Amino acid sequence: MEQINGRFAPSPSGRMHLGNAFCALLAWLACRSAGGRMTLRVEDLDPNRCKPDYAWRLMEDLEWLGLDWDQGPRPGQPPDRYWQSWRGELYGQALDKLEEQGLLYPCFCTRAELHAAQAPHASDGLFVYDGRCRGLSPERRRELAQKRRPALRLAVPAERIAFADGCQGLFGQDLQTECGDFILRRSDGAWAYQLAVVCDDAAMGVNQVVRGRDLLSSTPRQLLLYRLLGLTPPRFYHIPLLLSPGGRRLSKRDGDLDLGGLREKMRAEELTGVLAWLAGLLEKPRPLQPRELIPLFDWGKIPRRDIQLPAGLFCEK
Ligand code: GLU
Repeated sequence: MEQINGRFAPSPSGRMHLGNAFCALLAWLACRSAGGRMTLRVEDLDPNRCKPDYAWRLMEDLEWLGLDWDQGPRPGQPPDRYWQSWRGELYGQALDKLEEQGLLYPCFCTRAELHAAQAPHASDGLFVYDGRCRGLSPERRRELAQKRRPALRLAVPAERIAFADGCQGLFGQDLQTECGDFILRRSDGAWAYQLAVVCDDAAMGVNQVVRGRDLLSSTPRQLLLYRLLGLTPPRFYHIPLLLSPGGRRLSKRDGDLDLGGLREKMRAEELTGVLAWLAGLLEKPRPLQPRELIPLFDWGKIPRRDIQLPAGLFCEK
């Protein structure tokens, strides 16, 4: 049987919140229940939002929950090759491969121009770039490059990419009309998530990706990159998101739902029991260790739809 290599890849842009803990628990259970090896990777691509302190806190919060990993960073240790901020060389090599295929172009659009150039995509409010910089002449590119540093975009083919998600079922997108040409490197030099995540999952041998349903619509773009770079994609499982009792998506701004607040209110085993119950793995919440859930884990029990928290469990609204 194939060795399963799972991963958890959080962005350290704030304290871990309830939704991240839910995702970490399910990624860990999916991996461990298949006898897999777990990788932790710090996705700190955005230097304006990510801080090493948050990353270390995150690792401590995972340890507190009882979720371990076989390869990855350690709390308090300086950034290393498991932090994306250290992996630029790999992303640069991938970019060169795409450049050689003539698939990249510089985009000089400012934020305001982008706003005007994009039509919201009806189904999920995503914006689709209209490709206005794709056809610029070499002279015009030189001219614009004197004034502004461009972002780099990938010209996507007119093609539909579909795949079978292990949790959500069949999902597909038309690349040109639903995704548009997307950025691989920002004008400030920061690498784009879409490129980095593909390079890293492939380089780290990851073959099982469990993550939030909000990233389902990124997956066709990532599958395109896997193909263009000659890499083997993992199997994807997009799990439901946790919503507030009022139906709002939980975010890092819900301070009381971050692990700092939760750790003051409950023990790790209690939190694990509630998360497992929300995931459909327990009939009612009871305190237990993540490893006690391994025999109970089954994708058939995990709901597809987002999960609304009952009022009063963690918050009222
Ligand atoms: N770093 C992303 C996040 O924290 C997750 C990326 C992924 O799992 O592919 O939202």
